Amino acid sequence: MLAGIGPRPAGSVQEQQAADYVESVFRELEYEVRRETVIRPDGGSSDNVIGRLPGANYLAGFLLVGAHYDTVAGSPGANDNASGVAVMLSAAEALSGAATPVEFVAFAAEERQPPTGGALNGSGAYAGRVDGSTVEAMISVDMVGNGPSLVVGRFRGSPAELQMELASRAADLAIPVEFTDRYFSDHVPFARKGIPAAGLSSGDHPTFHSPEDVFGVVQPVNLEWAGRTLLSWILDRSAVGS
Ligand SMILES: [Zn+2]
Repeated sequence: MLAGIGPRPAGSVQEQQAADYVESVFRELEYEVRRETVIRPDGGSSDNVIGRLPGANYLAGFLLVGAHYDTVAGSPGANDNASGVAVMLSAAEALSGAATPVEFVAFAAEERQPPTGGALNGSGAYAGRVDGSTVEAMISVDMVGNGPSLVVGRFRGSPAELQMELASRAADLAIPVEFTDRYFSDHVPFARKGIPAAGLSSGDHPTFHSPEDVFGVVQPVNLEWAGRTLLSWILDRSAVGS
């Protein structure tokens, strides 16, 4: 659906169409949905689309899973990052009706937007207002559609515990894993605030940020690796917390 909308750079009509689509899926899955206005460096605004489980208690803290839905100009962004949004929504579907305190966010305006140069606008806006004691951990799912392994990344200099938790979930599921401590996506504003944060991806692909990043690039097995690892991590963390 998102790749079919086509390129959806921040501020475009297509970015709003993508936001509307994500909101409609959250509603079908009976999530509580709200939008958070994101003021971009160019002065315009975009929306983070946020879904919560109506039966869960978020007051004592919650897990946060995010995936950006915008693209660079000219790229349909099937891998970057319709793939991550699809995995996030699949996890939301698997947890529909549960009382697990997990919040799902489709972030706007992640990509660097020339000429103003800003990036991570949606996640930055969210992280800027969030209380670090309520978000227990944050996972970004970005570009998970094509690669030889599941890449578990963190921002340079941030602690590795969450990365290790994800790797252990993947290992239990016999999913091939690689690590990087040079990973840059929507987890970065959270890591900078001291919130445990990590990212799932399948590594760079030659079609990255090009018109060739189309539906056919995305491989089901890669989505499955990311989705199963993410869901297993959420269930494991929720079991420990209850
Ligand atoms: Zn991306």
